[in-house]
Amino acid sequence: MKEMLFPKGFEKRMKDRLGDDWPKFAEVHGQPAPVSVRINPAKSASLNSEKIPWTDFGYYLIERPSFTFDPLFHAGVYYVQEASSMFLEQALKQATDLTQPLRILDLCAAPGGKSTHLLSLLHKNSLLVSNEVIRSRATVLAENIGKWGNINAIVTNNDPEDFKNLTGFFDVIVVDAPCSGEGLFRKNPEAMQEWSEENVEHCSLRQQRIVNTIWPALKQNGILIYCTCTYSEKENEENIKWLVDNKKAESLALKVKSDWGVEEIHNGNIYGYRFYPHKITGEGFFISVIQKKEEQQEITAHTKKIFDHPSKKIIERLADWFTFFDDIELVLHHELVLALPKRYLFDITLLNKVLRIIQKGTAVATLKHDKLIPEHALALAHLLHKKNFKSIELTHEQAISYLRKDTLNIAGERGYALMNFKNTPIGWANLLGNRMNNLYPSNWRIRS
Ligand code: SAM
Repeated sequence: MKEMLFPKGFEKRMKDRLGDDWPKFAEVHGQPAPVSVRINPAKSASLNSEKIPWTDFGYYLIERPSFTFDPLFHAGVYYVQEASSMFLEQALKQATDLTQPLRILDLCAAPGGKSTHLLSLLHKNSLLVSNEVIRSRATVLAENIGKWGNINAIVTNNDPEDFKNLTGFFDVIVVDAPCSGEGLFRKNPEAMQEWSEENVEHCSLRQQRIVNTIWPALKQNGILIYCTCTYSEKENEENIKWLVDNKKAESLALKVKSDWGVEEIHNGNIYGYRFYPHKITGEGFFISVIQKKEEQQEITAHTKKIFDHPSKKIIERLADWFTFFDDIELVLHHELVLALPKRYLFDITLLNKVLRIIQKGTAVATLKHDKLIPEHALALAHLLHKKNFKSIELTHEQAISYLRKDTLNIAGERGYALMNFKNTPIGWANLLGNRMNNLYPSNWRIRS
């Protein structure tokens, strides 16, 4: 068992706080971090593995498999995610009405753990705006959202400041704030090199700034879910206290089962929930739910659409591609046909005016003259009418070859076909009689 050399200031603070529990906390840092995944309920029913108690979709794995060589990982059948952060589900279930459509913003969203989880929980007529400020991270976020397969997500690449005009637009805002990362020291010991009292202070001020900036975008009575993967009070309780003291806001209590091992914090009018790795099977985490009580003017969505549409003939040809058609609108962006949720067209028009949208809805096909070339995102989308396409079931070896973008030795009637692994689409191929064109996106291909 390896022993961790914690930063001195951190060790002192945690020893003072944990008292007799400190040796257990220190010891658990010498053990391997548990591995857990969250399944995509739209693609898979369950896993034969130990369940994570606070979520319907999370499971612990006995060992860490090679996810890269599992085609189902690339198909968005599950997401590899740390168990504590799946507690977001409790916050959402207990503080919001998930039987109603909601507009929800995940402000610090990359690589997409919380966003994909939200998509599995929200009413299907909800709209998720999943935002990431760092461009390269936003690209990864868009990839993960695309794999999850929902039509009702928009991915943006903006600074929190850019949301300032969207007053009262969102019913729920999730701020999974950049933090000092103390809760991830076991998984990522290098994070200890960057730890300092000054950095904790710097993170705390940045978190306050982020929450303060995004606050006007939340509706009156809307819910802000604030979380971090750190233990420091400055970045957690003190920020919640700052919010409740400086805004008209109420910190909400959540029900937590005693056998979950989650620490409930109740200081005056502040509630928070802390996860310690020696008490739960997972990493360090903090979450708190705040309801906005002050009046907030709401921006009204535009009533003028900006989208072009494909011709009626194209729309008719595409109708067979989908399992549902009434709720979607097909729009044309240059040569790309996109499926967007009809009820949010005005909202998306408004968002398009103020934000940098890098992905919206589901990319369906590229229109080349009169030809429709199916998009990769469509193969992974819930709206795809799989039965109306030719499908080829691949062996594991073939599937890995396909994901490497090799040319497979597959003959068949000409046309586009879904490449399936265990009955789940992993992408498209264009069958050309005695050979095939592999349409897997080049930049996603397995390189190892
Ligand atoms: N929610 C993500 C998930 O579950 O996969 C993890 C988010 S991570 C804890 C915090 C994110 O905040 C990072 O992607 C980081 O790039 C972003 N970030 C960094 N500085 C920021 C800022 N000033 N404003 C908003 N987001 C920021």
